Amino acid sequence: PKGSEVITTPFTFASTTHAIVRNGLEPVFCDINSDDYTIDVTKIEDLITDKTCAIVPVHVYGNMCDVEGIERIAKKHDLKVIYDAAHAFGVEYKVKSSACFGDASMFSFHATKVFNTIEGGAVCYHDDSLVQKLNDLKNFGIHGPEEVAYIGGNAKMNEFQASMGICNLRHLDSEILKRKAVVERYHSHLENIEGIKLCQPQTDVKSNYAYFPVVFDEKAFGASRNEVMDKLAENDIGARKYFYPLTSASPAFNGKYNTAETPVALDISERVLTLPLYADLSLDDVDRICDIILK
Ligand SMILES: *Cc1c(COP(=O)(O)O)cnc(C)c1O
Repeated sequence: PKGSEVITTPFTFASTTHAIVRNGLEPVFCDINSDDYTIDVTKIEDLITDKTCAIVPVHVYGNMCDVEGIERIAKKHDLKVIYDAAHAFGVEYKVKSSACFGDASMFSFHATKVFNTIEGGAVCYHDDSLVQKLNDLKNFGIHGPEEVAYIGGNAKMNEFQASMGICNLRHLDSEILKRKAVVERYHSHLENIEGIKLCQPQTDVKSNYAYFPVVFDEKAFGASRNEVMDKLAENDIGARKYFYPLTSASPAFNGKYNTAETPVALDISERVLTLPLYADLSLDDVDRICDIILK
């Protein structure tokens, strides 16, 4: 029902929070883990009220959320779980696709993602009774030639995008392998550097190497995230403050949310930089990027 609460995290792309608000629901922000930047399951239950209807966790950077912990909590409190899996195409947990968890998982096929159809996406879900409704909703809510059953939008994928996806799908495994080599090269330079924190491989997870986030500790490292980003930009290297700022800090919400209530997310957002990462990034370029950072 309208006004129901949805537990989610603010360390994500704007649209995760917008999807909740645009459906007349109230986001309730939970903090994140300081190692993989996904939702901190130990903090979820304190946020549950009699208005809570769902949890919307995010598989950040392709790191899998604690899907088992989330499922336990959801079962206990009878909540739906809808994953933002925009970063997790091709990721597996215990040899199961990231698409298998929760009630539904939403993937993005935007041009910047590991697998893309230029624009587009897919929702994977368990409840077969939703097939017709979701199909209708993506097509203006039209159910038949003379029946508009729902208030829907235009979320169809066109044939051109679909053919782009079919082409790209053929290269997915080799793209992920090339990304893996880039990530391993980054690790070889930046591992064990004082003041630099990297994401470590997760147990039982097959990664898609979607992003390479680096978290800087200004005092220990000798330069801030922003200084490193500016220096890279001077050398025509595009790194991103991703995710910064938190979605809960958006001026669209007029200060309604207090970012201090998610201190880990706030801290990481102020110190994280995602470095260039794509399949055809040469290892020489990785070496050069790391040289600049370490200098
Ligand atoms: C890219 C992204 C989205 C949005 O995906 P679109 O396909 O552009 O709608 C949502 N959430 C996260 C975490 C993303 O990175």
